[in-house]
Amino acid sequence: DESLVRLEGIRKHFPVYRGNLLRRMTGTVKAVDGISIKIMPGQTYSLVGESGCGKTTTSRMVLMADRPTEGSIYFDNRPMNRFSGAERRNFKASVQAVFQDPWSSLNPRMRVDQIISEPLVTHRSLSRAEVRSQVQELLQVVGLHPFHAERYPHEFSGGQRQRIAIARALSTRPKLIVLDEPVSALDVSIRAQILNLLKELQSTYNLSYLLIAHNLATVRYMSHTVGVMYLGKIVEESPPAELFTNAQHPYTRALISASLPAHPRQRREEIVLAGEVPSPLNPPGGCTFHPRCPFVMERCSVDIPLLKAYSSGHMTACHLYEDGVPVAG
Ligand code: SF4
Repeated sequence: DESLVRLEGIRKHFPVYRGNLLRRMTGTVKAVDGISIKIMPGQTYSLVGESGCGKTTTSRMVLMADRPTEGSIYFDNRPMNRFSGAERRNFKASVQAVFQDPWSSLNPRMRVDQIISEPLVTHRSLSRAEVRSQVQELLQVVGLHPFHAERYPHEFSGGQRQRIAIARALSTRPKLIVLDEPVSALDVSIRAQILNLLKELQSTYNLSYLLIAHNLATVRYMSHTVGVMYLGKIVEESPPAELFTNAQHPYTRALISASLPAHPRQRREEIVLAGEVPSPLNPPGGCTFHPRCPFVMERCSVDIPLLKAYSSGHMTACHLYEDGVPVAG
């Protein structure tokens, strides 16, 4: 398998308890409920969907910050739950993260050179002079001047801080960076600069990204593959060019109509997303989207739709399409 990261049938279920003294388990939240995805070398896989759909839980499992309840995650074809100590250390250096808020993710009491070199010192044994020159190089790579090394985070703008966070993530020469809403806290005017920097770095270093983003314009610009999540499941997966012009799943179509101006090649009518996301504690049966779906049919509340190929590289989980063919009527 050529993928860098492969998730196979991943579930993450959290038990829910009631009562203080005699804690009784009253249910299970199915935060992630059976997803299988592949992140390819040098490519971006994006997860989209409303808050609480399982995107962040998925990324935490990819970062090994959480363990799946069921299923396996493979990194470079090795199952992560069977990593040796050396493999685990190698993994920790190979996978880094950049988070949404550059104000809280950088320690305000550390100088920029200390922030950037912290993972370097943890993961690689380098001399002081080597660390210093690597920090200088990393600052230049992310578009900052080397004299910034001795300053503190509060002396920088949001965009510059995110560049520092990216330099820190790059310091261990990772293969994968999890980007969790990397530009949503930044001024609209500088978002494109940071996205362009991330794209440049991707092609220079053959980086893979797992991108979590609400903004579909960002997702369209950055991704090679997009997975649309709803209540812990992938309901549609496709390259962005196909997804944003020819989305099939009613939920994806509603997300797109709500947030992107109609594409000239979009032939379909708008779908308005009604109601709230149901509680993951008691998700609806059958297709979990059925209480909000304008196309709901009788079988939708009973049969769980499986993710099936709609066309090459494009999969959807909806009873409206059987084996890639829209069901008549
Ligand atoms: Fe709508 Fe049924 Fe398709 Fe679910 S399976 S998205 S309820 S049509």
